[in-house]
Amino acid sequence: MKLLVVEDEALLRHHLQSRLTEGGHVVEAVGDAEEALYQAEQFNHDLAIVDLGLPGMSGLDLIGRLRALDKTFPILILTARGNWQDKVEGLAAGADDYLVKPFQFEELEARLNALLRRSSGFTQATIVAGPLRLDLNRKQALLDDQPLALTAYEYRILEYLMRHHQQVVAKERLMEQLYPNDEERDPNVIEVLVGRLRRKLEGDRGFKPIDTVRGLGYLFTERCR
Ligand code: CA
Repeated sequence: MKLLVVEDEALLRHHLQSRLTEGGHVVEAVGDAEEALYQAEQFNHDLAIVDLGLPGMSGLDLIGRLRALDKTFPILILTARGNWQDKVEGLAAGADDYLVKPFQFEELEARLNALLRRSSGFTQATIVAGPLRLDLNRKQALLDDQPLALTAYEYRILEYLMRHHQQVVAKERLMEQLYPNDEERDPNVIEVLVGRLRRKLEGDRGFKPIDTVRGLGYLFTERCR
């Protein structure tokens, strides 16, 4: 998933960026609210992690601005202070969850996964579509209960399409799931990856859940639950 991290403490920002990237996410990590607003206006994100104590514009104001821009992705706030007013104000401003510093990375990851799951309308950590099962925690796909050998990129594309099942997903969106915003991207890569993914899903039983919508993108046709 594509994450926006807004944290002014460089050490923590870098730590979050590397751990979340290791966890299979594409992470845009910025040190202030202005840069975060720019990122949010220019690109799409699936979730934001926002530190409340930022230099210049505060984290609270940033959340208000993001919501005013109709950015509906889940927001997890980080607060150094444990007082309840901060949490209440953050949630009132439009945040969805909070974490008090210092925290264990595992807790952040668990909350983030729960927020991502809920925002795509799933209540469980497994998404099922016919013979296909996606284990979101293990990042593994099973077809007829047999593990599918997918590369990290193929898995990310499949997860994104399944999270947005029965919706047309633009190639650009899929590219955002693979590369940071400032990296050069080749749209042909998506075609190659989707082609490989289709062959692996098709196997012997002919399971073909991914349609091409000419000029628009891809559609995962099977209902996911
Ligand atoms: Ca701070």
